[in-house]
Amino acid sequence: MSSQINESVIRDVIQEVLGRLGNENNLPHTGALSSSASSAVIPSGSYAPPSCGCDSKKSSQGGRHGVFATAEEACDAAQQGFLQLQKQGIEARRKVEEIVKTMCADRATEWGRIELEESKIGRLDHKIEKLQIIKLVPGVDWIRPDARSGDHGITLEEYTPFGVVGAITPSTHSIPTLAGNIVNIVAAGNAVVFNAHPAASRCAAMAVREFNKAIERETGIHNLVCIIEEPTLDSFKELCAHEAVRLLCVTGGPGVVKAAMQTGKRAICAGPGNPPVLVDDTACLKRAAESIIQGASYDNNLLCIGEKEVFALEHIADDLMNAMQTAGAVRLNASQLQQLTQAAFTFKEGQGAGCPHPVVNKDLIGKDVSVLAQAAGIQVPDGTDLLFAETDENHPFVDEEQMMPFIPIVRVGSVDDGIRAALKAEHNYKHTSIIHSHDVNHMTAMARALDTTLFIKNGPCGAGLGLGGEGYLSFSIATPTGEGVTNPKTFTRVRRCVMVDNLRIY
Ligand code: NAD
Repeated sequence: MSSQINESVIRDVIQEVLGRLGNENNLPHTGALSSSASSAVIPSGSYAPPSCGCDSKKSSQGGRHGVFATAEEACDAAQQGFLQLQKQGIEARRKVEEIVKTMCADRATEWGRIELEESKIGRLDHKIEKLQIIKLVPGVDWIRPDARSGDHGITLEEYTPFGVVGAITPSTHSIPTLAGNIVNIVAAGNAVVFNAHPAASRCAAMAVREFNKAIERETGIHNLVCIIEEPTLDSFKELCAHEAVRLLCVTGGPGVVKAAMQTGKRAICAGPGNPPVLVDDTACLKRAAESIIQGASYDNNLLCIGEKEVFALEHIADDLMNAMQTAGAVRLNASQLQQLTQAAFTFKEGQGAGCPHPVVNKDLIGKDVSVLAQAAGIQVPDGTDLLFAETDENHPFVDEEQMMPFIPIVRVGSVDDGIRAALKAEHNYKHTSIIHSHDVNHMTAMARALDTTLFIKNGPCGAGLGLGGEGYLSFSIATPTGEGVTNPKTFTRVRRCVMVDNLRIY
């Protein structure tokens, strides 16, 4: 008898559900999904994009391969992409990671050239290399749960996605930052929408289109990675304000970091740097010279971690500069420095070289050594990677994040003096600092005083990102907000699952 009652109750319930399904408008947004993610469940409080129930809209969005005219379209599509990824699970994340890493390696030469032609800053060999090394960015394997087991059972803490992440990329490494962000963000189970720097947005959109084509082919997921085709400050604001965007990842200078922090959304900010280098009298000067040249010349000094100014103890400064010349860098004399300074900075009326807050001349940012040499009034041998000159500590080349293949060398009377000057030049960005020394007291004193996210001893800046030092790679180093070198866990919510008094197996 009771089983008959149950059967009739179940029949009624099924009929009611089928009746409701016949009228899509009766369904609440948070309880039902579009056909593309019909078996996924939207957690309560999650964003569900407006649906007109029109299949033609969905298929036309599928045909966009992630590239959209507006932030709203991009965010709506990315939310659908997120739900599709959620449905397909970890293996699909792994597939996306593999696609992005493989495409960056296979197309490094072509894409490096395309990015350089558009942005017109940096060096082709390094643009290519920055894509080849995307394979070093940590992915799905980084996401491992934490577990506890005790008298009261077991507890699992899982690293789970936010949903859609809004990401801002710089002009200095557009495709590499975008690709590295995708690996991290998708490995954590999220979708992403990019607002790229306008000076390198076409190459970014091209890469997004190509990634999506491969992702669609391999997984059937559409628009997991989206981009606004013509980014503007308004599209940045719309992206940040969109309901689907739960988290921001911002890579850029002081302006965009400030703007992101004012949005009210949680922002992971990879901000500016002006990395100082201290060289003391215990250092291997040959190694120091070669490291400084390698780091400061990389991609014409566009890296935020790149060596930007050197403080050398007075009695070894000449030896260091000789070692730099032996290693191939070219030294400018005082008048050549003066000419370069006038070309590299704009001074407000009444200011001269040496005054604070001159404006960096964008025409020289990321340009080749030959262009800077010409501005300084000299010719340098082909293959010269870096120019340098002796300056005082208040020189604009010390104070400003100039991003040119030139580095100023400043004599300091003591290690304490060098640390004080380095702290001033770093502007409290807490980004990167470097020491060449074999005195652990000097290393410790500088590490404590500078308080930077990366502190590198006896190597070039790249060693701080696993390139010649131990560690892993990211092109987004979250400095003011404190997450450090970003990795998949940076883009997760930690959620706890508790089983009380059971499942402990010993
Ligand atoms: P940028 O600040 O000019 O641009 C970065 C991005 O922010 C771009 O997409 C740009 O369109 C956008 N933007 C700029 N100002 C904005 C504003 N007020 N509101 C909204 N969006 C804005 O930087 P850039 O010249 O492309 O890159 C160089 C800067 O980025 C340097 O300061 C460098 O140190 C920093 N950077 C930091 C990291 C890091 O990992 N910490 C990595 C790369 C670059």
